[in-house]
Amino acid sequence: MKLIIIYDNKVYKEGIGLKSDWGFSCLIGTADEAILFDTGARGNILLSNMGKLGIDPRMISKIVISHEHWDHSGGLQALVPLVGDVELYRLGKKSPSENMQLVSAEEPQEITEGMYTTGRFKGPVDEQSLVLKGKKGRYVLVGCSHPGVEKIIDAAKQYGNIVGLVGGLHGFNNFSVLEELDLVCPCHCTVHKRKIRELFPETSVDCGVGRLIEI
Ligand SMILES: [Zn+2]
Ligand SMILES: [Zn+2]
Repeated sequence: MKLIIIYDNKVYKEGIGLKSDWGFSCLIGTADEAILFDTGARGNILLSNMGKLGIDPRMISKIVISHEHWDHSGGLQALVPLVGDVELYRLGKKSPSENMQLVSAEEPQEITEGMYTTGRFKGPVDEQSLVLKGKKGRYVLVGCSHPGVEKIIDAAKQYGNIVGLVGGLHGFNNFSVLEELDLVCPCHCTVHKRKIRELFPETSVDCGVGRLIEI
């Protein structure tokens, strides 16, 4: 599986016109599908970054919205005329269009082969995260981790040994939780990015638009 960061507070791959903005979006490519996790805040930036990264919206088959904050769901509307028929995994009860078929994400379930949603987690803002099957183990992809990184990782363990964590970690500072991981990519709203890079120089990597992660 391949992950490519499309929307983030920082640009990782300089020189090709990618834009940074407060928000998060990541495309997950499997052998036969492209699944979009979150859509960033602004449709024009999302689409511009997708274009620069050579991502055609028509190849997206499923869209997952981690939680109902504008910086994760704001770009959804702009995709409506550009995608075909897609499944929309969202905790909010609304689809912006008929071609986005709402699928209940309340319960843990398989989204496609080797990819699972944790279902709804209660938090200051309710959120769902994804668990991805990589070569070395399971990777957790998070939006903002509002319900808490520890809680999300614990629940994700039902799908197997967790070896990686990618996404927004918000104010998370219980760093010992990260010791057991082979890959940590702190993105978007993560407050302690620098600290995480310092503590885990071998296993952590910088996030940003254009960052490609193979798992
Ligand atoms: Zn949020
Ligand atoms: Zn956010």
